[in-house]
Amino acid sequence: QRLVSGLTKTRDHIVSGMDSIFSGFSQINDDFYDELEETLIMGDIGVRTTMEILDQLREKVKEQHIKEPTDCRELLIESIKEQMGVSENAYEFEEKTSVVFVIGVNGVGKTTTIGKLAGKLRAQDKKVILAAADTFRAAAGEQLKEWANRAQAEMIGGQEGSDPAAVIYDAVAAAKARHADVLLCDTAGRLHNKKNLMEELKKMNRIIDREYPEAYRETLVVLDATTGQNALAQAKEFNEVADITGVILTKMDGSAKGGIAVAIQSELGLPVKYIGVGETIDDLQKFDADEFVNALFY
Ligand code: GDP
Repeated sequence: QRLVSGLTKTRDHIVSGMDSIFSGFSQINDDFYDELEETLIMGDIGVRTTMEILDQLREKVKEQHIKEPTDCRELLIESIKEQMGVSENAYEFEEKTSVVFVIGVNGVGKTTTIGKLAGKLRAQDKKVILAAADTFRAAAGEQLKEWANRAQAEMIGGQEGSDPAAVIYDAVAAAKARHADVLLCDTAGRLHNKKNLMEELKKMNRIIDREYPEAYRETLVVLDATTGQNALAQAKEFNEVADITGVILTKMDGSAKGGIAVAIQSELGLPVKYIGVGETIDDLQKFDADEFVNALFY
């Protein structure tokens, strides 16, 4: 129910346009495909992905001798799902002790997302420690502390300007001492200096290699779904400098550009693991591609 309501704007943006194409054409011709193409691209699904979806659709139409444009709707839904690949990606933080690095540019909702994740894990009775390794901004640590309190998780921080790697070191020590299940690390994951970011992440990962080699590791990038193609570009750039294991798309509730989830999975092969659908601690949902496409179209 919630998933559906969080996607209202995206649904209105993509699907209503598409449905008027299905009902507006009396036969399947080049104009029909052109209009579908335009609607998908406008829906932030990405040019390359759109082309692949439409190629698949054409093939299916031919193979199954489809004549009616309205009969293409189901085939199109199928093609989108196929393009997205694996359906359920969310990591349930269950296998073993986990260290999760969270990166993303300022304002995308990184801190909020870490708070929501902590809340989700606490609700599953996991022991969670937050590492405030974004020591670049003084406010970042304070803001994370508020979320830690809300989620009832412990937070390890450092002085403004201190070495983020030192914070990680302390956080790992705390996680081990308390037998934590998950260590969530907020980082100053900035993009304006790729080399710095890469070095910073490497340094933090080396500490985990040394101090916590048995831990399961993830690096999640947080992207703002309202920024559409810009979010896709950010995902690409982050993917070049770090071993990204997944994406969290925030602000889905306010975005008409949720179609970007299709492009991220299809074009970059990165799994979308969670979506943010509001500002409170409960507004984070596991992402499931099939469910997502169904919520858009049905
Ligand atoms: P950061 O700079 O990346 O750490 O971003 P913040 O966590 O401070 O979030 C920036 C703003 O986005 C805040 O006002 C959040 O409440 C808001 N925000 C974060 N996630 C979501 C979401 O899923 N939906 C909505 N509507 N707002 C969000």
